[in-house]
Amino acid sequence: MDAKKVLIVEDEEAIVEILQFNLQREGYNTVVAMDGEAGLALAKSEDPDLMLLDVMLPKMNGFEVCGNLRKDGYRMPILMLTAREGESDKVFGLEAGADDYITKPFSMRELLARVKANIRRQNMGVPTGDGPLQLGDLALFESSYTVQKNGTALDLTQKEFEMLRLLMKTPGHVYTREDLMEKVWNYDYFGDTRTVDVMVRRLREKIEDDSANPRYLMTKRGVGYYFAEKI
Ligand code: CA
Repeated sequence: MDAKKVLIVEDEEAIVEILQFNLQREGYNTVVAMDGEAGLALAKSEDPDLMLLDVMLPKMNGFEVCGNLRKDGYRMPILMLTAREGESDKVFGLEAGADDYITKPFSMRELLARVKANIRRQNMGVPTGDGPLQLGDLALFESSYTVQKNGTALDLTQKEFEMLRLLMKTPGHVYTREDLMEKVWNYDYFGDTRTVDVMVRRLREKIEDDSANPRYLMTKRGVGYYFAEKI
């Protein structure tokens, strides 16, 4: 299998060096940008398998870089490096389209585990030959990682697709936030399940006619989320 490519966008040289060293030792190819504009350009020209994106960057901050990429239809997993413990950075990042975040200072072991979990592509490129999974107006095509609504392709990130695929395959099955963290992100999450809530909100904005009154992606109050059985 070809080595996966990780784009590091970070302006602190010491952090870049330690990230490069450890990622390369794990078998990844790395590309580096040291400001937001260069990061945005490289994300588009290099087509990385994952992007590590610092928030505080010269020229353009990480939220803007992430938002710009998603707006232009780039779907690679984006793992934000947030400097502060504050909730707001995490939520801004997720709302800008990031798939995950890690707070500085991070442990390298934890970061490598997150990179691996976010880069994993189950069944990617394996055609099922069974045609799309059709539920209501939504059609999910496993082999091409795409979802259509009434025949129009939706612009989903890789993680959004993976969460929707899991839910659409098991209508009526209620998943807790912890279940979803484990199944979609592939790691145990310690208490902070905000990522799931933001991802659900983002998905609803894309798949529902009215995201405030969803008919596909439902909340089971006090438990978690499920895909509607009867649409
Ligand atoms: Ca920085």
